Amino acid sequence: MADTPAINRRTLLLGGGLAVSAVGAALTLPAQATAAPRPQAPPLVYGTGYWGARPPSAPITMLNHAPTYIVVHHTVNPGNTTDYSLERAFAISRSIQNFHMDSNGWIDSGQQFTISRGGHMTEGRHRSYEAVAGGTQHVMGANVGNHNSEVIGIENEGLYTDVDVTPALWDSLVELVAFIASQYGISPDLIRGHRDFNATACPGDVLYARLPELRDAVAARLGVATARRTEPSLLLRPGDRGENVRLAQTRLRAHGYAVPTDGEFGERTRDAVAEFAASHGLDKPTCLASARADERGFIGPDVWNLLAPQ
Ligand SMILES: [Zn+2]
Repeated sequence: MADTPAINRRTLLLGGGLAVSAVGAALTLPAQATAAPRPQAPPLVYGTGYWGARPPSAPITMLNHAPTYIVVHHTVNPGNTTDYSLERAFAISRSIQNFHMDSNGWIDSGQQFTISRGGHMTEGRHRSYEAVAGGTQHVMGANVGNHNSEVIGIENEGLYTDVDVTPALWDSLVELVAFIASQYGISPDLIRGHRDFNATACPGDVLYARLPELRDAVAARLGVATARRTEPSLLLRPGDRGENVRLAQTRLRAHGYAVPTDGEFGERTRDAVAEFAASHGLDKPTCLASARADERGFIGPDVWNLLAPQ
């Protein structure tokens, strides 16, 4: 369905905080209330019409339930710009949508929201903001393989393998995640990184390591407690060594791959994992980062579970 000026206008008005009562009313009917969060002022999110989005190539799927998880991604390419302008945020939104539609063959942007390094927030897939503002429905995106009906994803512009996000991006991430969590009644414990689901380094080691801090910051805004510590997910990469690599190699051998069991994640192990993942349909990019980074042969939770003895 093509976007319309009416939706764009409504999105920005809501985003500008001028329709708080309408959003607040939705809080009386959370789809999956797991907490009693403090209502959050709507953040300034620029709707698809503002950044010149193309219409989706097929109707948007609106699910009649809230998402379970809020998932954090990084975009990887084109790297860590120092252009913090709003125009840059719009340009990256167009670039991601073009890549997802033209290279991946998706109907629209895969992620529901995008945050630029300047801290500007944009809507990704059409109608995402409308759904969050309503608080009971969820626009299905394409950003976490085999989990898209459960997740709402945020692409954060940049590569966070070795360096941290900008303070502006971080502040917007806290604000947007808190708003989504309050609208849907999602516990801060259910904030995740992409690598908690798929074999990818996304959202980068540095940003991933800050997720406990993000959960705490969101919980503080919502006035709710975090119930438990969420352990980091297992991620094994070529070049790694140790007992987990040896265990993976042992399991690969059980699946018929003639790899060494030396605990060294070398080329033969990488090739075997890549072949194993492909045989289970796990070789497709699931978000922008996994499409643009070389993550062939990575072992994440999905691959690890398939390797485990049945
Ligand atoms: Zn990702």
